Amino acid sequence: MSEKIPATIITGFLGAGKTTLIRHVLANANGRKLALIINEFGDVGVDGEILKACGNDSCGEEDIIELANGCICCTVADDFVPTMTKLLTRADKPDHIIIETSGLALPQPLVRAFNWPDIKSQVTVDGVLTVVDGKALSEGRFADDEAALAAQRAEDPNLDHENPIEELFEDQLNAADMVILNKSDLLSEDERRATTEELKGLLRPATRLVPAQNGVVDLSVLLGVNGRAEDDMHNRLSHHEMEGEEQHDHDDFVTFIVELPGQQDRATLLRAVERTIAAHDILRIKGFADVAGSASRLLLQAVGPRLSSYFDRSWQDGEPRATRLVVIGEKHMDRKAIEASLTG
Ligand SMILES: [Zn+2]
Repeated sequence: MSEKIPATIITGFLGAGKTTLIRHVLANANGRKLALIINEFGDVGVDGEILKACGNDSCGEEDIIELANGCICCTVADDFVPTMTKLLTRADKPDHIIIETSGLALPQPLVRAFNWPDIKSQVTVDGVLTVVDGKALSEGRFADDEAALAAQRAEDPNLDHENPIEELFEDQLNAADMVILNKSDLLSEDERRATTEELKGLLRPATRLVPAQNGVVDLSVLLGVNGRAEDDMHNRLSHHEMEGEEQHDHDDFVTFIVELPGQQDRATLLRAVERTIAAHDILRIKGFADVAGSASRLLLQAVGPRLSSYFDRSWQDGEPRATRLVVIGEKHMDRKAIEASLTG
């Protein structure tokens, strides 16, 4: 029994801004140790070189692993699973794993790979983030450079699936637990509204859209709050403190903690979390619960429609058993209603 390593899958077409977003994550990791798995068969080496050149302490060259032998979803068993297994046998395990897909990959086979026993016991899918090019979409295109996207497709003879681009796009949105609407600064208010409406029609109901410029999104939103912050979370109410980031030029998100009284029934609590996320402008919920009939604490995390929970360790002697949930959401969210909804 131990805390599983969260893994974030980042999808999105060529040019949507995945690499820029990951560079932002590396630059703001703030001590979180990251491992990156990059799949870029169509444009070999470029992303990897850019990211390695970041020279960030939280993610050294040995933590950036490139899968260049084909499309990640077509080579899951031969390439991705062995790579993950190897990563998990390292003495120095990462705090978080980020997987950047080529953009042509189907997200579902990759998500399913996390059910392999060796992986499932140690890793949990934190979320599937899909990055979209807001500007291109508002102009009726899937990518800024559709010719380059077509070339990337043509370049790989090993791509086992020949789904039309429209279908790939819809798959990536349907698999998304959170969508990053990148380049939103290039959109007028009207364009932004129209693009958001169009995208919402393709998303599962609880999936939230997060606007971004140059892939800049608060790390507590992208990856969740990290373990150290959670240990001390009842003292730390603002996301500024939780992340410890020095620079914050935006206040689009709010973090607060809900403490639930008494012991919880696991199934009832999980249903309350799902219902609350679907009904409010919440991006994430994470926390621990005191569950009736268990000597262990239940860790639960939710991103949009994705909810996972497992017992991570026993309650320790002298440790107060409690249920505390960190809620991260848009600044206008209705805190009182959310508290009431979680309380049941
Ligand atoms: Zn594939």
